[in-house]
Amino acid sequence: MKYNFKFEGTKNLKQKPNDADLQFGVEFTDHMFIMEYEEGKGWYDGRIVPYAPLQLDPASSNLHYGQEMFEGLKSYKSVHGDVLLFRPDMNAKRTNNTNNRLCIPEIDEDLFVAAIKALVDVDSDWIPGKQGTSLYIRPFIIATEPYLGVRASKTYKFIIILSPVGSYYKDGLKPTKLWVEDFYVRATKGGTGEAKCAGNYAAALKAQEIAHEKGYEQVLWLDSIERKYIEEVGTSNAFFVIGDEVITAPLDGTILPGITRDSVITYLRDNDVIVKEKKLSMDELVNAYESGELKEMFATGTAAIISPVGELNYKDRVMIINNNKIGGIAKDLYDTIYGIQTGQLDDVYNWTVKVK
Ligand SMILES: *Cc1c(COP(=O)(O)O)cnc(C)c1O
Repeated sequence: MKYNFKFEGTKNLKQKPNDADLQFGVEFTDHMFIMEYEEGKGWYDGRIVPYAPLQLDPASSNLHYGQEMFEGLKSYKSVHGDVLLFRPDMNAKRTNNTNNRLCIPEIDEDLFVAAIKALVDVDSDWIPGKQGTSLYIRPFIIATEPYLGVRASKTYKFIIILSPVGSYYKDGLKPTKLWVEDFYVRATKGGTGEAKCAGNYAAALKAQEIAHEKGYEQVLWLDSIERKYIEEVGTSNAFFVIGDEVITAPLDGTILPGITRDSVITYLRDNDVIVKEKKLSMDELVNAYESGELKEMFATGTAAIISPVGELNYKDRVMIINNNKIGGIAKDLYDTIYGIQTGQLDDVYNWTVKVK
């Protein structure tokens, strides 16, 4: 192995939750990975230590100006007993794109993946086995320099934590209800929409609360200039099946470039489905709905993989999609991607990476 991380094992192993009781992101494993950065020195002292609270100077710049980024991916135990990651090289690349936007120093992509592999290896007993469960991996970077001035920090911590998570769907692939937000916006060109950074989510909470109050689970975001074109859903990318075409927003700077999005597009095109990355306006969507051309809508992201959408509310007008049932394309995509992630299907695209 190219990297030699120090390892300090915990003396108090935690009680592992039952697979059946797992929720999302509430329990964490026995260990975490930490690495330091200092200007002039680079990234150093990568180590695996017992999971524990951090000690931070209250003047640490991330606490005041939000210089923070994060990633999300999952590890599965395959049907053959291997421990697998899904496209971690893509998370490494996206990390450096986000870092570049936030003036956080780059991390070598091999080092990023090696750190994930080493930590998952140590805590691999935590990977749940039940259908639909997995070990969620959360790498993140925080600016740690104690300085109350607005400029890029000179010190950082790169940390990885792991959380065993349950099936995103308690009752199978149940369609979600979305609130189309036509006042608040998530991202604008030149902003940080394509970066996975904490600030984007803090700024999205308000609209999410409004959606919840109205009885909707997530927000469908529109563009920030005209409130006309569809962008994405909460923390996932949006897809529409209109006629015989699949449509999703182009990566023009305001959309988070989802790895699930990329996997979906690759698989569909490989199976001769027409996929268009283009702007879709709410007017076009309403027309397609009225003419019966809107067949399916779904959202894509690591947490749920494919999340069918059964209802949209746009300016108090309710649209029920595909009789509030999961569509054929969404179901096929879920089965295919989950099948590859868990080794039940052949990994024809070489997407999985073996931890052990
Ligand atoms: C993480 C995220 C996605 C989905 O990305 P995946 O790599 O597929 O998990 C989409 N939109 C937003 C805003 C996100 O934060």
